Amino acid sequence: MQFKCALAYIPLHKSLVEIPPPPIDDPIYLVHRHWMSQAIALAQAAGEAGEVPVGAVVVDGEGNLIAAAENRRERDNDPTAHAEILALRAAGQTLRSWHLNHCTLYVTLEPCPMCAGAIVLARLGLLVYGVDDPKTGTIRTVANIPDSACSNHRLPVLAGILESACRQQLQSWFAQRRLRGAGASP
Ligand SMILES: [Zn+2]
Repeated sequence: MQFKCALAYIPLHKSLVEIPPPPIDDPIYLVHRHWMSQAIALAQAAGEAGEVPVGAVVVDGEGNLIAAAENRRERDNDPTAHAEILALRAAGQTLRSWHLNHCTLYVTLEPCPMCAGAIVLARLGLLVYGVDDPKTGTIRTVANIPDSACSNHRLPVLAGILESACRQQLQSWFAQRRLRGAGASP
C-alpha cells in the first residue's frame, strides 16, 4: 500500500517496542496502524533523549503527513511541550489555519487535560490514540473533556490502535529508568 507523505519516513528502531504483524487487512485499519507506527518511532526518539516516550503525527484530509512531533518537555524546559501540542502547532503552521477539522491526530498515549483542551480548540477531525493513560488520560479514562460541558466540539475518537506496542514502549521506558534510579515524575 502506498501512502502520500510530505515528510521523510521516520526510522523505527526496535529497542523499546516490537510492532507485530497486522491481525486483519482492513485498509482503513492499516492506514491508522501505519501512522501510529510513525508516532511510535517518534516516541522512541523522545525516550532515547531522556523524555517520557510520547509521539504524535497529524495527517490532513488527503492523507498527507503535515506534522510530526515528540515530547520535548525536558529538553525545552517547557511544561507545554507535549507531543500533541507541538504537532498541533506545526499542523496549524503548515495549513496556515488553526482550524484542523479535516485532520487526524495520531498519538501514542491518551492525551492529558492540556492536550485534550487544545485538541478540542483545534476542532480536530479525528483523534486516534494508542493506549489509555490511567493517570492523566482525559479522553475517557480519568475524565472526558471532549464530551464535557466545557467542550464546544464533538470529537470523533478511535482508541487502541497498536495499543500493546504503545503500552510496551512506555512500560519499557519506565522500567529502564527505574533500573537507572532516576526519580522524575512522568
Ligand atoms: Zn499532554
